Amino acid sequence: MPRERLTVLIFGAGIAGCSLAYHLARRKIGSIGVYDPRTPAAGATGRAGGVVTEQLWNEWDVEVTRETHAEYRSLARRHRPDAYSENGFVRWTKDPVAAAVLREAVGRLQSWKVDVEAVDPAEISRWMPWGRFEDVRAAIYSRHDAVVTPSTIAELYVEEARRRGVEFHLGRAGALAPGPDRRPVLELGEERWDAEFTVVAAGAWSKRLFASLGHPLPLVPYRTQAATLRPPHPPPDVFPTGHDVDTDVYARPEGPGRILAGNGTELIEADPERFVTSGDDRFRTHLAEVFSDRFPGWADSEMLAAWAGVCTATPDRRPLVGEVPGAPGLYAMTGFNGFGVMRAGGVARRLADRIADGPDSRADEELRIVRPDRFYLPYPSFPPRPGFTLEAGDSPRF
Ligand SMILES: Cc1cc2nc3c(=O)[nH]c(=O)nc-3n(C[C@H](O)[C@H](O)[C@H](O)COP(=O)(O)OP(=O)(O)OC[C@H]3O[C@@H](n4cnc5c(N)ncnc54)[C@H](O)[C@@H]3O)c2cc1C
Repeated sequence: MPRERLTVLIFGAGIAGCSLAYHLARRKIGSIGVYDPRTPAAGATGRAGGVVTEQLWNEWDVEVTRETHAEYRSLARRHRPDAYSENGFVRWTKDPVAAAVLREAVGRLQSWKVDVEAVDPAEISRWMPWGRFEDVRAAIYSRHDAVVTPSTIAELYVEEARRRGVEFHLGRAGALAPGPDRRPVLELGEERWDAEFTVVAAGAWSKRLFASLGHPLPLVPYRTQAATLRPPHPPPDVFPTGHDVDTDVYARPEGPGRILAGNGTELIEADPERFVTSGDDRFRTHLAEVFSDRFPGWADSEMLAAWAGVCTATPDRRPLVGEVPGAPGLYAMTGFNGFGVMRAGGVARRLADRIADGPDSRADEELRIVRPDRFYLPYPSFPPRPGFTLEAGDSPRF
């Protein structure tokens, strides 16, 4: 059966694959195809909280997120203003050890040009009068952080990429197999494609795809949860996303009269083909307990929906982006450790530049700290360590 050779073939049409297709098309790199057996919002992207914050633990992440944020703001303002809101992000703790970490983080973040400041509990109470904050020992606030609707942003990338000639093959069962010249081949019914550059951007499914191609990477899929709720008294349409460091629960505005809250993260491996897609009782109970303690004004909220999605962890919490060792032409864009929405656009721009400009380019340097060749076989086994953390370095405690 004849094969058609593309310049780039992307596996996965979540926010990672869609943003990459857009950036590659902008670089006019040649023919680009995107394959996904489902739809762009079917994976973690359609289940994400959409929080975009620069309160991060290393400068690379801050820079990538800043670029991503600017891109989402511009895409949304041009086409779907309702998919973006600059609402700010505040996090707090009552724990003395965590309070010291938060205070220390302010100077470090400011040195990376993050517009962040320490705030006192009275100020949080003014923003969130449904909460109780008198036991808070430290809090920090970044006013320019935002929330987005991730599935809408992914759709906007698809539209922009299609306009520039990218072909999307969605919703059809296909198979990825190693070809005769060791290039991965996509078999879709009677059609066969391969490409000069193949990128696996398949979220939690990436682990299995790389293994099936004979190039395993250190990835662990894990389940995490979120819910929409209707508080008894409608909150304002815009208020800062709040993150309670001690319980790891966050809450953000979600349209008129509703909020979105998470984080029921499980620290064990999940199977993206077989996981419980609804929110479980433990998560619901945890949210109810945290609300009655921290947000008493929301204690009687009606839970409208609770769901789970599968994210992808790496040993050092950094993504895996770049050429796979021992597999020329095969690239990874995955391992976002629960932060793929806020990183996708900036990472995609870098990877598109790396593919277009080759090794030894500026983009290659920009991706140095996330390249897959930082790990060596045999890969260590490791538990996922997700969560919004602020400790410096790569071994955050909370
Ligand atoms: C409850 C929850 C809340 C979250 N909140 C946030 C947040 O507030 N901020 C943030 O930044 N991130 C958040 N995340 C994380 C974020 O959703 C992910 O990091 C991000 O969506 C990953 O995007 P992706 O494109 O890599 O993966 P996905 O969106 O999972 O896309 C992967 C795609 O690959 C496809 N695929 C599967 N098998 C194949 C195959 N064989 N060939 C081709 N394609 C295949 C799938 O169908 C899927 O569409 C959250 C996640 C969850 C679950």
